[in-house]
Amino acid sequence: MRALYAALEKGGVALFESPTGTGKTLSLISACLHWLEDVNARGGEKVGKGLSGEEDNEDTLPSWMIEEDALNRSQQAQQERQQRQERQQRRERKEQAVLTLGGRHDGGGVKRKGVSRALPGGSSALLSPEALQELEELDEFELDAWEGDDVGKKRDDASEGSDEEDADGRLPEAPEKMQIIFCSRTHSQLSQFVRELHRTRFAESVSLVSLASRQVLCVNPAVQRLKSPGLINERCAELARGRAAPLEKKTRRASNEASASAPSSSTRCPYRARRGPAALRMQDLVLSQPLDVEDLARLGRKRDVCPYYAARDAAPHADVVLLPYASLTRAETREALGLRLEGAVLVVDEAHNLAEAVGSAHAAGLDLAQARSAAAQLSGYWEAYRRRLAPSTGARLQQLVRAAQALERGLEKKNGDQVFASISKPLSLPSPSATPASPSTLVLTVTDCLIWLKLEHFNLLALSAFARETHLAAKASALWARKNGASAGQLEGASPDSSAPQAAGLHAFLALLTALSSADEDGRAILDSSAGLLRFVLLDPGRRFSEVARQARAVVLASGTLAPLGPVLRLFPGVPEADMSRFSCGHVVGTDRLRVLTIGEDPAGNALDFRHSSRSTPQTLDSLGRTLQALFGVVPGGTVVFLQSFELLAAVESRWRATGVMDALLELGPVFVEPRRAEELEALLLRYQAACCGEHVAGSENGGEAPGQATRTLTQPRALMLCVVGGKLSEGINFADAMGRCAAVVGLPYPNLGDPELVEKLRRVAEEDVGREAASRAESPLRVSAAAREAYGDLCFKSVNQCVGRVIRHARDHASILFLDQRYERDAEAQLRRNDAAGPLGKLSAWVRDALQQPASCAEALSELEQFYARWQAA
Ligand code: SF4
Repeated sequence: MRALYAALEKGGVALFESPTGTGKTLSLISACLHWLEDVNARGGEKVGKGLSGEEDNEDTLPSWMIEEDALNRSQQAQQERQQRQERQQRRERKEQAVLTLGGRHDGGGVKRKGVSRALPGGSSALLSPEALQELEELDEFELDAWEGDDVGKKRDDASEGSDEEDADGRLPEAPEKMQIIFCSRTHSQLSQFVRELHRTRFAESVSLVSLASRQVLCVNPAVQRLKSPGLINERCAELARGRAAPLEKKTRRASNEASASAPSSSTRCPYRARRGPAALRMQDLVLSQPLDVEDLARLGRKRDVCPYYAARDAAPHADVVLLPYASLTRAETREALGLRLEGAVLVVDEAHNLAEAVGSAHAAGLDLAQARSAAAQLSGYWEAYRRRLAPSTGARLQQLVRAAQALERGLEKKNGDQVFASISKPLSLPSPSATPASPSTLVLTVTDCLIWLKLEHFNLLALSAFARETHLAAKASALWARKNGASAGQLEGASPDSSAPQAAGLHAFLALLTALSSADEDGRAILDSSAGLLRFVLLDPGRRFSEVARQARAVVLASGTLAPLGPVLRLFPGVPEADMSRFSCGHVVGTDRLRVLTIGEDPAGNALDFRHSSRSTPQTLDSLGRTLQALFGVVPGGTVVFLQSFELLAAVESRWRATGVMDALLELGPVFVEPRRAEELEALLLRYQAACCGEHVAGSENGGEAPGQATRTLTQPRALMLCVVGGKLSEGINFADAMGRCAAVVGLPYPNLGDPELVEKLRRVAEEDVGREAASRAESPLRVSAAAREAYGDLCFKSVNQCVGRVIRHARDHASILFLDQRYERDAEAQLRRNDAAGPLGKLSAWVRDALQQPASCAEALSELEQFYARWQAA
């Protein structure tokens, strides 16, 4: 706790490792909030050095200068607020003028609803009732106001939260204050944070707000049932502007319930509409006690006030803001949530997954069905509205139609050779990044991809902003749904292979367009022509995360283990490792409760060789069977075995059934196999837990016991769980006590180098190591770059560390950790000579590395384990 406090005081990057059971969350809460208290007691002054590298020199400044600076900053904030209000007023005046004059926006906006009624060459007075109804329907889906391509200046309005809010019912503007922004991977982990906070004295004094998306916090059932985040956001924004859903309007018209133009309860979200005292009261309640998202949603339902907006409005006033880190990594989401990072302390828990989360947040993909859907919806929209749109709006829409059609054409080409030829031709030079990883897969720079699609002259950033500001996706989807007699919700639920266009397709298309506006250095486009899929993958999460990190005063990355450190360090390009504060707790248990052994051969003395070329051979599978049989007889309780892939797991299962190994294992206890389907996992784990605790259902192999079979209690219960590295059981699952008396990792789980995304990511690392030329020329980046080899090893050992971290979950737990492969045994020898992080097994978590032993044979390992478990059984 003291180390963390000092790190916050110093500022910059801090790495904090604390294995499960050591009270990591409580330490984070106590250190951060204690520090915050002290800072506030000192008047909330700046402390230390931020990541931008700017030294804090306030100590050396005279007090009048500090006061002057504070005044300036406050005036600047006031000015910005005023500018925002003026912008809003100008927009409203402009819209009013358009309505009054019945004309177009200046500068290329759109015609307003109900204004232009003339058909080409005709007069509205001559329209038939049917034609008038058709025009009325077109009004419903008209694009929102668009004020040109000045993308940067219109950030406030373009983001998710741009729904023209008024200021009634809001808390007064928040003062600039020191905030702790705490992130974790999931809402349930954040709920755990809230629970731990309630155990401390800070629960009384700290204000905390949990932020989440509308998908999580929306309490309007009509909106919630849309399920897709894109549709929920769009619908909520529509309601905020007081517009009924097109289909609702139609229904009302048909049933004469109300005039379409008259205000009605369904034209605004009833939860959002309650502003003034009720909204203020809700915001007060949100700030008065630490609530997790479930509490927040409950409170919103109880008081009929939208918790999403209540949390968003209250966040600037809170001492602590909680959110999942997926929401942190994209600028648009941060803006939508009103998250202010400048000068804040950012604490990221479960940070070993942060690099992947940044990559996922910026990745995008589009398949052929989605491209077809997007092209159909946009073309339909263009056909319906082409005569009603101002020229510049029409031009943007046309470009979007062309882009969607280009993608549809590109993904339709089924023959790999043809696709390769068509892509290669437009390139004036052979692209160094074009690395066919399989006959149907091509990796392209973003520029090459756009040239192939003939979209290189399009301003994709401007097109994405246009679509966002005009809410094009919602309008085009709704129009398509009207024409095809389906609701947007039904569209979303359509089967993936349905020929009907899907609303999700348009969102996927726009997301890919945004991603393809990235620079060449940021990512790659990967085309899989046989699957009809184009993806954008981010190569270097550090470039995007540094935007976040630069703004914060301090960034604390916390995890049970951050080893290997490589992926974490790459998130902070330009920050030397030596400048980072580091604190690593030992494990909560002493060495007497842990055995870490390498086993390089089976009981018959045959080498355990799980290299890619030999791991699926009958000899290797038989050797593994013999080893696990021997092991299973020794370990009381649960043994969890991690294999390198589902393919290997299937090969193991099939071989053992054929050779009788499975029967021999079943004699000792039930064997469970990780299912590929996540929904089967919970039931399987319950059966496994029961078996580990002694309630064994006869014949419960694979967790699939036959109904009606009697249970018997074993004197020494044991169960074997076969699962996969990187699968659902390898992370976040608690194999405590009897459920995890032994964790065995089979082989070194290096990721597949046939994956073009992985190769490109490693090539990016190599470029920084040996230069672009050398890295691009090499067939494999691993051949030319030590840094790429390091990064590849990091991926392998990160998975290993997560697997073995499933056991020993508290101070009174005990377990063994086994590494089955001759390569572990060989490397252990060198590692034991120099037991440090730079050794051959130096990428293992420190607590595992420190306990490493290398028995001379399998028999010696088994005897060591027998003694270990006998001691604990006697205790
Ligand atoms: S205002 Fe709140 S409750 Fe209403 S639709 Fe939007 S998110 Fe849902």
